[in-house]
Amino acid sequence: MELKADTQRHAAKPATVLLDRLSKHFKSPEGGVVRAVDDITIELSGGSFVTLLGPSGCGKTTTLRMIAGFETPTRGRIMLDDKDLARLTPDKRGMGMVFQSYALFPHLTVYDNVAYGVRLRGKKGKALDDAVINTLDLVNLQGLGQRKISELSGGQQQRVALARAMAIEPRVLLFDEPLSNLDAKLRVSLRSEIRRIQQQMGTTSIYVTHDQAEAMALSDVVVVMNAGKIEQAGPPDVIYRRPNSRFVADFIGHATFVNGEVLAVAHDSVDISVMGVTMTIDAGVGHHKGDTALIMVRPEAISVGTGNLPARVKGSTFLGAYVEYKLDLGAGQESILALDGEWMTRGLHAPGDEINWELLPERAYVLPPAPADEAAPSKD
Ligand code: ATP
Repeated sequence: MELKADTQRHAAKPATVLLDRLSKHFKSPEGGVVRAVDDITIELSGGSFVTLLGPSGCGKTTTLRMIAGFETPTRGRIMLDDKDLARLTPDKRGMGMVFQSYALFPHLTVYDNVAYGVRLRGKKGKALDDAVINTLDLVNLQGLGQRKISELSGGQQQRVALARAMAIEPRVLLFDEPLSNLDAKLRVSLRSEIRRIQQQMGTTSIYVTHDQAEAMALSDVVVVMNAGKIEQAGPPDVIYRRPNSRFVADFIGHATFVNGEVLAVAHDSVDISVMGVTMTIDAGVGHHKGDTALIMVRPEAISVGTGNLPARVKGSTFLGAYVEYKLDLGAGQESILALDGEWMTRGLHAPGDEINWELLPERAYVLPPAPADEAAPSKD
């Protein structure tokens, strides 16, 4: 049986996007050059949901705008499957965009906003009507086609923006911080909507955010950027558990750091002495016996009230199911954060209390040694 044109387009192989040694330099108003994007290479595989994550000014938006065709790269190529996009204007790239500001036409109805790009692509009559109605169904805006944009909530407006981007059946969907104007609860519910819709349609999606929770919840692949470079790219769980730098560890979730002395090096772990206790912890490459190494300690890697490492409580925050403690480990060590879920059996501690703790080695990770010039990390 022959597929209908529409179905065929949905069934088309999702597009792979290759950023090949891509750079964008701007002249800065002060007279120098800003390397907004600095020689990045990455392949975003077809059908995947990829987020570009990083602090303000790291080059996320510039990367997205080059993919969309709003900025011309200083160097490098952007390939969509085997097609070089260099000579294609934004409207010829087959990409749908969703912006933070919604960018809807306020004087048009919901229907006409969604129909806009579809009409431009030559669809009329029933084909147009089907495309709009189906897309409004997809984003749960059934029955609101005749509303004016001003008669919608912020969340509904962003659904219209999403519908407008989807209605043209783009090969790639681009999102530029689409949820940042919405309140926290709506952000969480819309991000699962976006994920559901993307999985249903299988459209390759590239999403810019500086919100690490959003990136982890949405993505197949998180690309962490810093100062125009890619620091690390990988599935959210790998980025979280096996960050390859202090910057990534610090940017994704809560991380604190403890120094240890490397006693022996194995293939992907080290024996390490932490405040006099020896343990085996998974480790990045490049360690040598006798080195001082940095152990990433997430709050869930600490057990409070067990083991025999000493600490003094510096501060505590009661969170209900958990108590978060800030622990002073003494000379030569930074303070660390611990989450205690056993406070109901073991009791609460107050600032000044001396406590015991232990590091759960299977939840910790020894970062690879930092290049000598690595800058101190900063959160956005
Ligand atoms: P944010 O999260 O704040 O939007 P971002 O990671 O998206 O940040 P970009 O907007 O890509 O960052 O900017 C990267 C760098 O390039 C910044 O230092 C910015 O000041 C600079 N930049 C961006 N656009 C221009 C421009 N048109 N002219 C000069 N510098 C620019």
